[in-house]
Amino acid sequence: MTPTALPRRLTSTIFLALAVGAPAWAKTPVATGTGGAVATISEPASQAALAILNKGGNAVDAAVAAAAALGVTDPFSCGIGGGGFMVIYLAKENRVITLDHREVAPAAFQPSAFAPEGKALDYDSAIASGMAVGVPGTVRGWHDALDRYGTMSFRQVLAPAIRVAQDGFRINDNFVKLVKENEKKFALFPATAAHYMRNGQPLPAGTLLRNPDLARTYRLLSTGGVKAFYSGKLAQAIVTAVNRPPAAAGVAVRAGAMSLADLANYEARWRQPVRSSYRGYELVGMPLPSSGGVAIAQALNILEGFDLKSMPREKAEHLYLEASRLAFADRNAYLADPEYVDAPLAGLLSKDYAARRRELIDPTQARPHAQAGDPYPYQQDPSVPLRPASSAKSKLLSESAHTTHLAVSDKDGNIVAYTFTIESWGGSGITVPGYGFILNNEMTDFDFTGPHPNVPEAGKRPRSSMSPTIAFRNGKPAFTIGSPGGSTIITTVLQTIFNHVDLGMPMPDAINAPRISQRNGMATSIEPGFAGSAQATALERFGQRWDAAVEEIGAANAIVFNPDGTVTAVSEGKRHGVGSALVQQRAH
Ligand code: GLU
Repeated sequence: MTPTALPRRLTSTIFLALAVGAPAWAKTPVATGTGGAVATISEPASQAALAILNKGGNAVDAAVAAAAALGVTDPFSCGIGGGGFMVIYLAKENRVITLDHREVAPAAFQPSAFAPEGKALDYDSAIASGMAVGVPGTVRGWHDALDRYGTMSFRQVLAPAIRVAQDGFRINDNFVKLVKENEKKFALFPATAAHYMRNGQPLPAGTLLRNPDLARTYRLLSTGGVKAFYSGKLAQAIVTAVNRPPAAAGVAVRAGAMSLADLANYEARWRQPVRSSYRGYELVGMPLPSSGGVAIAQALNILEGFDLKSMPREKAEHLYLEASRLAFADRNAYLADPEYVDAPLAGLLSKDYAARRRELIDPTQARPHAQAGDPYPYQQDPSVPLRPASSAKSKLLSESAHTTHLAVSDKDGNIVAYTFTIESWGGSGITVPGYGFILNNEMTDFDFTGPHPNVPEAGKRPRSSMSPTIAFRNGKPAFTIGSPGGSTIITTVLQTIFNHVDLGMPMPDAINAPRISQRNGMATSIEPGFAGSAQATALERFGQRWDAAVEEIGAANAIVFNPDGTVTAVSEGKRHGVGSALVQQRAH
């Protein structure tokens, strides 16, 4: 029966019920108000953060609460089986600090891990393996963030997520699509297939999905703390799952070599952020081992020399694509774990070096492929690092769109920008039996063969693209932004900043605009519906070419700190099943 067919009184009763019953946090991708704010891709996650803010928790407490809930509702993107990067702004101290809790390679990891006979393995079989699993960093990261800058315990911040895992949540079309796309991988591991599939098919959209195993695991952390993850029974279960992957009978999956000591020894790292400036903004981003902060800063430094505002949009976008291409050429050649590789950061981040790179851009014609530049003369440091030996071309591995990003601020002005992941959709595919979470495949973020700075080594963290970013203006927070999407994370954050700052789009428009991602390939990645559009045709006149395979790119979340003191939380209006933005006191 359609609503119009309902008797009039009944219809108005339903409307009344909707209006009265509509909670202040009804799902919306944009919310403006005062107090704390949160934007995530999952409504239960945003609600978890809001509940913690309403209980007096700060942005760090709320970020961990949201992340734990995302581990339940977005188990293919993120969770305690993975790792991440958190950028924290401490308002009272006016200071930014970052927390690297990236997965590390186990002590027994070999440089030949993904090239056993000198030949790189195919990507799919490398992913679905124990060898792909890095020592998970998420729980250590949550613990360290709470311990140093939070105000609440695991017990308090995990409570909302435990409820979601226990009571269940309705899976949407996007969730079903992800299971469908990963059917083959999930079918390899019975514990994973049992949870997300029935009779070899994905659970249908609308199913109430509970995860009592994960609820129990979170309870274990609530009572036992960080130690309950990195030692004892859970640690043993992780090691067993990695070293003897619980694959279906007759299926051969490569084993890893992780030890209890690898888990017990795992450490997160507090790191200074990457700082750069762009047209009056100070940008603060994630340092190595994420390449995100450096690559974004470099591309913006290149763009800064163009008077983009005076140009037609397509010309400015052509320049955005070319600047990104050049930054990616350097990112691919030089960046890796800073504890293993001395990358020429001062050079890469210098405005003078950016000016040299800018000269390579033809304002009328796309370049097919950019070579890495030479940042060493711009190091301005007598202790010039040794140049890395690189194989002629660094292949851009097919990292696609996964991961999750969330943004939280609190009433005191603290901000957390947090991206975390299990790498591919559904990570390695290996669920730790009985514990309800999937292990990462982060080790495949290494370059499989060298010489290259980002080759596998024991104890090393693979290079990432995650780019949680905070922008300041006149010493005050202006906005924060981040996204999932493998190497397209960098271009999504870059393009959103470009859309907002250069094209003057309000943040919701900057996020919803079609994404075009140039990562030094011949063709630029695009989303469904872009090819053939007027915008695409205009860019083709500059020689820009599009990848035939189209896919949604990223799922950004942002908060804008408005000059009038209000905050606007912004999530995706269209992508990934639409995100959820909430504020503590909604402006009417
Ligand atoms: N592993 C990726 C990275 O660290 C994130 C996963 C993804 O979004 O593909 O950059």
